[in-house]
Amino acid sequence: MDPEVRKEQLKEMFLPLVDSLGYKLSPDSEIVDFLFEQEVQIEKEKGSPFCPCQGLSGEREHDMKLVCPCIPFHREHYDAMKRCWCGLYVHKDVEDPDLLPQISLKEFKMSKK
Ligand code: SF4
Repeated sequence: MDPEVRKEQLKEMFLPLVDSLGYKLSPDSEIVDFLFEQEVQIEKEKGSPFCPCQGLSGEREHDMKLVCPCIPFHREHYDAMKRCWCGLYVHKDVEDPDLLPQISLKEFKMSKK
């Protein structure tokens, strides 16, 4: 399938779920375009549109939590940053994604103690 067509299909599939979680596509269209391109390529190679920014472990249970959009599995962490790990999606009220911090999972867990 044409990668451009698949990109649009993935977007259409993902956006209702992302929207229901209070997120939207990043206003940074270059990042959005790049990440969807990566996801189309990953889907072609691995069978699912896994996250372009997070490593797979080879363990199915772990890796299935990294299929885009992975927000439901990492909600608390991403809500604290107002963005998903890659920055493909941001909270609906975000206008400038460059101002958002990227907090590692380790830092996030520490901050909760
Ligand atoms: S971090 Fe973002 S881009 Fe990566 S899989 Fe999760 S929702 Fe998708």
